[in-house]
Amino acid sequence: MISFENTAISFKGKSTKDLRRAYWLFKIIGNNAVVKIGKWVTNTALMLNLPINGIIKKTIFKQFCGGETIKECDRTINQLAEYGIGTILDYSVEGKTSQKDIDSTVKEIIATIEHAKGNASIPFAVFKITGIARYEILVLSNEGLGKLNNAELQEYEGMKNRVDQICKAAFEADVPVFIDAEETWIQDSIDHIVTEMMEKYNKEKAIIFNSIQMYRVGRLTFLKNRIQIAKSSNYFLGTKLIRGAYMEKERRRAEEFGYPSPIQPTKGDTDRDFNTALELIIDNIEHMSLCAGTHNEYSSTYLTELMAKKGLEKDDKRVYFGQLLGMSDHISYNLAFNHYKVAKYVPYGPVKEVLPYLLRRADENTSARGQSSRELSLITKERNRRRNKK
Ligand SMILES: Cc1cc2nc3c(=O)[nH]c(=O)nc-3n(C[C@H](O)[C@H](O)[C@H](O)COP(=O)(O)OP(=O)(O)OC[C@H]3O[C@@H](n4cnc5c(N)ncnc54)[C@H](O)[C@@H]3O)c2cc1C
Repeated sequence: MISFENTAISFKGKSTKDLRRAYWLFKIIGNNAVVKIGKWVTNTALMLNLPINGIIKKTIFKQFCGGETIKECDRTINQLAEYGIGTILDYSVEGKTSQKDIDSTVKEIIATIEHAKGNASIPFAVFKITGIARYEILVLSNEGLGKLNNAELQEYEGMKNRVDQICKAAFEADVPVFIDAEETWIQDSIDHIVTEMMEKYNKEKAIIFNSIQMYRVGRLTFLKNRIQIAKSSNYFLGTKLIRGAYMEKERRRAEEFGYPSPIQPTKGDTDRDFNTALELIIDNIEHMSLCAGTHNEYSSTYLTELMAKKGLEKDDKRVYFGQLLGMSDHISYNLAFNHYKVAKYVPYGPVKEVLPYLLRRADENTSARGQSSRELSLITKERNRRRNKK
C-alpha cells in the first residue's frame, strides 16, 4: 500500500530555507484572525497603491505560484520534473471583462499550450471559461439559450468560438486541456460547451477534460450519463474529478434565493460520492481518462488500490493524480516516487492579479479547515529529521 509518511521523499525538492519559509507561512495562515487582518491590510494597501508586491512575492506568492510569467515558471517546472512530477501552467488572472483583456487571456492560454507542446514535463494545460467570457453571459445562457436576445446570442457564440480556438490549439499541439468547474449557476452552460468540444476533439483519445465536482448532489448520476453518452457517441470522456471549491458561496446563495442547497449535506456524503466516482471511472477506463484533483490521502490511496485491482500499470497515462503547487507535497512526491503519474497546478501571473487566488489558498488553509495543521506537522517532522541527521 502506498504510504505518504516518508517526509524525506515528500520534501526532497525543498531546501531547509524553503522549509523554514513554508513553516512560518502555514503557521501564519493557520490562524483565522491573522488571515482576516492580513486580507484587510492587503486590500487596504492595494486601494492606497502601497508597494506591497515585493513582500507578497517573497512569501505567499513564492509558496503557491510559479512566477509572474511562463518564463519565470521554468525553474519550478524543472524542479518538479526532477522528481517525476508534471506541471499544469495555470494562468490565474481573474475577473477581466473588457474584450481586450479577454483576448489577451485567450492568447496567454494558447501560449501555455505552445509551451507544453512536446514537453513531457507539462502534461496538461488548463483554463477557466470565466477567464474568457463575461460572467453575465454564462449566467444567462445557463438558463437555456432560448431566453437570449440577438446581442446576447452573438456574445454567447463569441465565447464558444474562443473556447473552440483554445481546444483546437490543444488538439493540434497534442496537449490535453482541463476546463475547470465553477459555480452551479453557470456550470450547466460550461458542461454543455465542454461536451461539444469533447465530441469534436476526443475521437481518438481524451484531449478535452471536463471537471466534475462531487460535493454536488446528483453528480454520480451525471457522471454515469456522461459515460453512456461518450460510449454511444464514440468519443473518449476526459474527466477531472474534484470535490469542489465553492461550498460556502453555493450554500449562501441557495439560502438567499430560497432554493435547496446543491451541496451534499455532509462531508461524508461528498467523500462517498467522490470515491464511488473513482470506482466508476476505473471500471470504464477503456473509454475515459482521469485526473483525480485531490489532497485527500484516503481517496489518493483508494485510487491506487482500484488501479491495482483493475490490473492497470502504475504509470498508466490515463490516470493522473493532481495537486496544487505548495500544498500536499507528501502526496505528490510519494506518488511520483512510486511511479504513479502526478501533476501539479502551477498558478502564475502578475502578483496583483493572482491575489484573489492567493487569498483563496489562505482561506483554505486556515485552522477552520485544518489543512495547515497537516502541512505544519509534516514540515516539522521533516525539519526535525534533518536536524537529527546532522
Ligand atoms: C488539481 C486540482 C484541480 C482542481 N480543480 C478544481 C475545479 O476545477 N473546480 C473546483 O471547484 N475545485 C477545484 N479544485 C479544488 C477542489 O475542488 C477542492 O476544493 C480541494 O482540492 C479540497 O478537496 P480535497 O479532495 O483535496 O479533499 P478534502 O480536503 O478531504 O475535502 C475538502 C472538500 O470536501 C468538501 N466538503 C468539506 N466540508 C463539507 C461539508 N460539510 N459538506 C459537504 N462537502 C464538504 C468540499 O468540497 C471541500 O473543498 C481542484 C483541486 C486540485 C488539487
